[in-house]
Amino acid sequence: MALLFLSINDDPGVWTRTLSALMPGLDIRVWPETGPAADIDVALAWKPPPGELRRFPQLKLIISLGMGVDHLLQDPALPSVPLARIVDPGIITQMAEYVCLAVLHYHRHIDDYERQQRERRWRRLPPAETARRTVGLLGLGAIGSHTARQLTALGFPVLAWSRSSKTLAGVDCFHGPEGFEPLLRRSTVLVCLLPLTGETKGIIDAVTLALLPVGAYVVNCARGGHLVEQDLLAALDRGHIAGATLDVFQREPLPAEHPFWTHPKVRVTPHIAGITNPGTTAPQIVENIRRLSEGLPLLNPVDRVRGY
Ligand code: NAP
Repeated sequence: MALLFLSINDDPGVWTRTLSALMPGLDIRVWPETGPAADIDVALAWKPPPGELRRFPQLKLIISLGMGVDHLLQDPALPSVPLARIVDPGIITQMAEYVCLAVLHYHRHIDDYERQQRERRWRRLPPAETARRTVGLLGLGAIGSHTARQLTALGFPVLAWSRSSKTLAGVDCFHGPEGFEPLLRRSTVLVCLLPLTGETKGIIDAVTLALLPVGAYVVNCARGGHLVEQDLLAALDRGHIAGATLDVFQREPLPAEHPFWTHPKVRVTPHIAGITNPGTTAPQIVENIRRLSEGLPLLNPVDRVRGY
């Protein structure tokens, strides 16, 4: 069994050591030094160059080295072999932390206090009511459901939107196209935790933003393609949206001339909301290699038609 490791972000040395410790004897080839293409059975990949995985004629499984799979499915030449993703408890925890941090930042007026500090101004602002800071989550999957629980534990009312009907204790759940507008109308913070698919591309546009209450905040830590960036800039400049925390962008790295870098109402982070941890994810990768060789159902399979 030979595994191809192909990632533009991750350190192959750490991954090779971690995977080999769990599966001694696993033949790991680090791209681009793959050896004969016909040796490769499994690809563990993050943002492979389009068409690259097509080169391996014996490929039987592709595992996404991230929780999203849009980076693979956007390749029209992706081989039609089973596709699995990682579901990393470390990423799930980090993503929930990121969202809670952003919500608390706005809720506790930290932007205002930072401004006051720069002016050496000592002034107390009236506290906002936690019970009125309704947070709307787009996506109630692995990340959305944990984030919903963490926000609920902090006392925030939580609304969540999914494709299929769901229930989660303490969360007001909506689903399908008809559930979208009612969630937006009540969300004082809108958080995107959706996969990027044909249905969700550009979902946060001028129409969506206009349905949020005046003074709402936007947090996008899913994919840059979910947000129509010009529409957000217009809504911020009009004052309809009070602020945005953005971890992902249409173009990454965010170009130096992009207005988000200097916009007073935008907080930018460099796609770090959830970072894959070899220690917490390697066991499920190894388990899927075992399952493949034993003909067993895979962990975390991806439905290519749904796109996630
Ligand atoms: P997941 O478990 O697959 O859950 C996806 C959720 O989105 C599900 O609730 C699903 O509904 C819902 N959904 C999908 N399409 C929809 C549609 N058309 N309408 C309404 N709801 C829809 O995904 P996850 O593991 O939580 O991850 C979500 C995304 O986070 C990933 O795809 C990735 O892009 C992003 N991410 C970002 C970072 C970062 O560092 N910024 C890190 C990790 C992940 P159902 O429940 O009905 O299926």
